[in-house]
Amino acid sequence: MNVLRVALDVPVATLFEYASDADRRIAPGDRVVVPFGARERVGVVLELAAASTISASRLKPVVRVLEGAPRLPQDWLAQMRFLAGYYQRPLGETVASALPPRLRSLKPLPKRRAAGPAREGADSAVAAFVARHQLNAAQAAAAERIGGALGRFRAFLLHGVTGSGKTEVYLRLVAAVLQQGHQALVLVPEIGLTPQLEARFREAFPETPIAILHSALEDSARTHAWLDAARGQAAIVLGTRLAVLTPLPRLGLVVVDEEHDASFKQQEGLRYSGRDAAVQRAKLANCPIVLGSATPSLETWFNADAGRYERLSLPERAAPGAKLPLVRTVDLRAEPAEHGLARSVVEALRERLARAEQSLVFINRRGYAPVLACEACGWAAGCARCSAHLVLHAAARSVPRLRCHHCGAEQAVPARCPTCGNADLRPLGRGTQRVEEALGALFPGARIARIDRDTARRRGALARALEGIGRGEADLLVGTQLLAKGHDFPALTLVAVLNADSALLSTDFRAAERLYATLAQVGGRAGRRERQGEVLIQTRFPGHPMFAALARHDYAGFAEAQLAERRTAGFPPFVHEAALRAEASRLETAMRFLRDAAALAAVPAGVQVYDPVPHVVTRRAGYERAQLTVQSLSRPALQGFLRDWSERIAATAPRSLRWHLDVDPIEFD
Ligand SMILES: [Zn+2]
Ligand SMILES: [Zn+2]
Repeated sequence: MNVLRVALDVPVATLFEYASDADRRIAPGDRVVVPFGARERVGVVLELAAASTISASRLKPVVRVLEGAPRLPQDWLAQMRFLAGYYQRPLGETVASALPPRLRSLKPLPKRRAAGPAREGADSAVAAFVARHQLNAAQAAAAERIGGALGRFRAFLLHGVTGSGKTEVYLRLVAAVLQQGHQALVLVPEIGLTPQLEARFREAFPETPIAILHSALEDSARTHAWLDAARGQAAIVLGTRLAVLTPLPRLGLVVVDEEHDASFKQQEGLRYSGRDAAVQRAKLANCPIVLGSATPSLETWFNADAGRYERLSLPERAAPGAKLPLVRTVDLRAEPAEHGLARSVVEALRERLARAEQSLVFINRRGYAPVLACEACGWAAGCARCSAHLVLHAAARSVPRLRCHHCGAEQAVPARCPTCGNADLRPLGRGTQRVEEALGALFPGARIARIDRDTARRRGALARALEGIGRGEADLLVGTQLLAKGHDFPALTLVAVLNADSALLSTDFRAAERLYATLAQVGGRAGRRERQGEVLIQTRFPGHPMFAALARHDYAGFAEAQLAERRTAGFPPFVHEAALRAEASRLETAMRFLRDAAALAAVPAGVQVYDPVPHVVTRRAGYERAQLTVQSLSRPALQGFLRDWSERIAATAPRSLRWHLDVDPIEFD
């Protein structure tokens, strides 16, 4: 008889033991059905043991082994152990969250698809791609350097300015990996980016099976893609962060595109960083990883400075004759804005219209106005469940509504001020809808397209809108950062940025890094072909050093200045951080829990536990939120402390209170 140690999806940090006949040949990585309480559950065998730690009478037998999916490989199991330990989550929950829902259910798997192994002609198609695919000197040098590391672990930062053709480098490397008979894993931050990248890969490798993985896939599509990847049939796996949790038996290369993007960090359950998990994954698979970005995260930049990652640069745009855009600030103190637009910005838009070129007006706030207020008494519409204002939504041809961007609550616009009865309620500030309205009034003949999460809500709407813009079906684009990423609009020559200043005033130490990335990215949409692009940034702080760095296209200079500030202030990446967060119906309950938790901590030397503070947006969806930060210069010291501390907290936390630990947290709303 064998004793199996099985991971189950329960919030307890232990494995569960079951018995099995030795001749059943169950091994680690097998999915099994086991009795648990009154029910049966699906678990994953992690270990075999000769003897049980519980009495033989309590050791229940495994009900059956689930067929249809390949046994989960050793490196995948190792990755799960690493993630559970690093992010302080029970191993069973970690394993469960990495499997598509269908693989943790008792239902049988869908029938295997007919698609066999790599199709006939795949090799010749790859060779044809390489033959017709020319790289410029910088691209070729980067591809050669990374290609030379195939077959062993090495991390590369591919720092390429916007439009420098990082994707061409990825494609060339993937071709090399395919020729060796290995699999490539390519991660992108957002679902919206997968169709474009998928099209590029399918065009380059028409005979190669590609699996697409992201959270918006229907259950069966996700299961099929996962199985294709796990069986080694899909040679290219393209997806968002969750794709990093897929078993890949022949993994030969990992690419993380736009590696700086915050959406690589999962904000619930297993709060992992898809990028950091990818680095770990490459290590386990003993293959190279490429982290690509025009504005790398400061963590990655720091790792390159320290020599842990090798930095490769693509300093110029790839398209013939394409130059980086001219970046200028527009001083709002000297030139007040009317309807949110400074006069010189309006003039610049008018010039582009006259030349039949496209312009993009960027404002990172959707809706009509962020506040609806009564000027008589100072009342402002607020969300009943969040400590936040309700945003006025008033798109053309629709009934105005008030919406909470934190919890999604929605209500009608009141006819009068509920406090003083004043009927003259005013929208304050502006969002995309109000800017769209102002542009419509200024340029009556222009075709205006608005792109934000409201217009992109329906499935496929964003892709359709972007295609239309690419074909020149709009003169003026108004949009949020949905427009900033990865899209190439050949006729776009002007980008006007309206509300950069709010981020300059933020208390989040990452705000400047994020703003630089957003501005470089949105500005990078301009002038990607032979026509010179221009970026105009409206600001009250034109002397801010960030704008000077942007104008010089000097990310290195900006990163060094930021890192120097962080070193002085004691922020990551110079210290390692974790946050303990709590939510309760009363703020005092959450704060008391955090104070009690701090008192439970056996804090070793070199670890610092700070006082609890309410969250910036304290109430969200009816819950009051607070957190405390833990810091250490030593990663092992922090990890050891968190392991012990989370056990103590779990043993004493009241059941009514929601809490979690977040390792390497980033601010959230
Ligand atoms: Zn009033
Ligand atoms: Zn709300």
